[in-house]
Amino acid sequence: MTISSENSENSENSENSENSVNPTASERSRLTADEKIALTGGRDFWHLHEVPSQELPSIMVTDGPHGLRKQSSEGDHLGLNDTEPATCFPPAVGLAATWSRETAAAVGRAIAEEARSQQVSVVLGPGINIKRSPLCGRNFEYFSEDPHLTGELATAYVDGVQEQGVGTSLKHFAVNNQETDRLRVSAEVDERTLHEIYLRSFRTVVTRAQPWTVMCSYNAVGGTLASENPFLLTEVLRDQWGFEGLVVSDWGAVADRGRAVAAGLDLQMPADPAGEEDLRAGRENGTVDQAAVDRAAGLVEQLIRRSVENLSEAETEIDVEGYHQVALEAARRAIVLLQNDGILPLDVPAGGGKDPGAGGSGTGDACTGPTPLAVIGDFAATPRYQGAGSSHVNPPRLTTALDSIRSLTGTEVPFARGFEPGKDADAGLQGEAVDLARRTAEAGGTVLLFLGLGEDVESEGYDREDMELPAAQVELLEAIRQVTGRVVVLLSNGSAVRLPAAVTAAPGVLETWLLGQAGGEAVADVLFGRANPSGHLAETIPLRLEDTPSYLHFPGDHSRVRYGEGLFVGYRGFDALGTEVAYPFGHGLSYTTFELGDLAVTSGADGLDVTVTVTNTGERAGRAVVQAYVSVEGSTVTRALRELKGFGDVTLEPGASEQLSIRIPREDLQFWSVVDGTWVVETGTYAVEVGFSSRDLPLRAEVEVLGDEPTPVVDTTWTVGEVMALPAAQAVLAPLFAQMPIAEDPEMQKMIAQMPLNRLSGLGGLDRAMIQQLVDAVNAAM
Ligand code: BGC
Repeated sequence: MTISSENSENSENSENSENSVNPTASERSRLTADEKIALTGGRDFWHLHEVPSQELPSIMVTDGPHGLRKQSSEGDHLGLNDTEPATCFPPAVGLAATWSRETAAAVGRAIAEEARSQQVSVVLGPGINIKRSPLCGRNFEYFSEDPHLTGELATAYVDGVQEQGVGTSLKHFAVNNQETDRLRVSAEVDERTLHEIYLRSFRTVVTRAQPWTVMCSYNAVGGTLASENPFLLTEVLRDQWGFEGLVVSDWGAVADRGRAVAAGLDLQMPADPAGEEDLRAGRENGTVDQAAVDRAAGLVEQLIRRSVENLSEAETEIDVEGYHQVALEAARRAIVLLQNDGILPLDVPAGGGKDPGAGGSGTGDACTGPTPLAVIGDFAATPRYQGAGSSHVNPPRLTTALDSIRSLTGTEVPFARGFEPGKDADAGLQGEAVDLARRTAEAGGTVLLFLGLGEDVESEGYDREDMELPAAQVELLEAIRQVTGRVVVLLSNGSAVRLPAAVTAAPGVLETWLLGQAGGEAVADVLFGRANPSGHLAETIPLRLEDTPSYLHFPGDHSRVRYGEGLFVGYRGFDALGTEVAYPFGHGLSYTTFELGDLAVTSGADGLDVTVTVTNTGERAGRAVVQAYVSVEGSTVTRALRELKGFGDVTLEPGASEQLSIRIPREDLQFWSVVDGTWVVETGTYAVEVGFSSRDLPLRAEVEVLGDEPTPVVDTTWTVGEVMALPAAQAVLAPLFAQMPIAEDPEMQKMIAQMPLNRLSGLGGLDRAMIQQLVDAVNAAM
């Protein structure tokens, strides 16, 4: 579309005009054509353009999924240059393992307070792409393999940030599930999978929390770059979901600003003078979509005004200690107790143990006391607490597990590094560690062994090559197990790793993911029972990479990746194939035990209401995370065996019981109908299974749900079987088939059931006109 007048009222975009938060045409018209074009791109790496004549200042956006990454000096989006100190909360991999909306909201609020104090208008997160493969280099920045869990936690996070008058940027929209060839690769995904798996969590957050901005991804979807994709940026995001904010590009995702703005992109980041030039030239030669430029400039202006209003009241005081406590509580809740034969929690040595005088040199004796201990593994002293790339935060302080264990026990617990991350096995380091383990065993003590992945293995910008723990670490564990079985393994990694037999044979295993700056304290609190672990897996831990549903298709070739596993991502695939896994989705143990009872499910117009009584049957207070999975008996469409549709948590003293309510809104029961091109709730019997993981679901109830399937319009391309499945059609067609020779022949009936009506012409005396009459009669009967 071309337009002659730069201030034309005709350029009002009708779809936005009804939108209360969008500026009116007259507000937009105050901007000159050049100002509008300037607003569609950044001023520099992190700032938007100012328009002094309209009193629009330049505002700042900055990375922020798990802490602010504000750069005052040279900007970059790869984690290269310095950033201002800011609290480092657990990255999304850890936050997701809390299964706690409350925790996600608390982290969001704290990040927003820091952003306000630094005059940052929008934090560039959360990242909510689905973990399709354990190999994705950015899995640490994403929540889960499941869109429901992702959508719920991200909604809470976005609400938490935006309540404070700071914007968020929901990213990376969409289908950005790998780093390999991320700027070019085209995700080839079928329509239902696209809506139900890869767009679903975006839909949840957009419709429930209205993020101020959405960030389009680098990749292409179905052959069209996300930044130039009208289907994603306009049809789905704005028309179907009613998104009211602006679409910003990922940094460097735009190849052609004119095409991008026309498709629905509003802001290209970072600054790109060539993009601005192109738009100006397009205006001159009449190729630019002026209505789209007006829309984009209007939304950028709206963002600036909204932010200025909020930041003008900003407190500059920040509560560094308070945020550390938020980070600590989030980290405690994120730790997943994978297995425990009773070795955990550890006793705190009465009166502290003896200092063996070895300090951190790795040559000391096991400390004495009720629980002699030794700490082994480099990560205990140099924690792996976040991932690499654009989300990298510079924390003002960092706790280590080693220091925290020493301070909690009041003893100089001996330590041996055991290995150097990223390096081959070192005989000296390994020998010292095995010696320490031997002496600890002789004293009847326990070895705490910290293993994991180095930052170089998991990063934005590239995928992992395998899901193995480094060989040097596995070798160390095997050597230690030769001298003692009393080993607790603690894992630090941003995405699932394969757990060798030596790990799963250990009496205690904690998956600590990446825990942010307070992770060291959180680990010590959990080890010694000061905090009862309550984290649950937000991603399945498979036995082998080869078992993962996307294995044969990831990461594609020639810049195309086929999502061949379709809907069957993560536990949906493992369950459908009955594949054995190391630990299932949702798994997580506690130092206490919980029982579930009195399951009741009611079905109403707004969805399902689930209630269940949770009882703490053990000896310690603890938080139970209860999960509800839904399946549809005899569904007319292919479905996973069960899908997570609700969860909740409750903290209980020993012996206490409480009723927990879980709402499953009706829209969460919808599937995407490719026939109708819309969301549909299917009529039928729905089973709700409730428990503590996708494979530990002790309770089950069934309810009837009245669906909202559109009344079908039968035509002659329908098969006999499809038509006969309609109750209204049976009355019409049954007499006809009763007269045919096939009536008594079941095999023949099966064969005919597969035939479209329009191929029956000439059979059994039927002709085209008669077939059409039958179709009309069936439609009239419905
Ligand atoms: C990342 C985004 C990030 C942006 C700005 C890009 O490389 O993909 O997630 O927000 O840089 O740092």
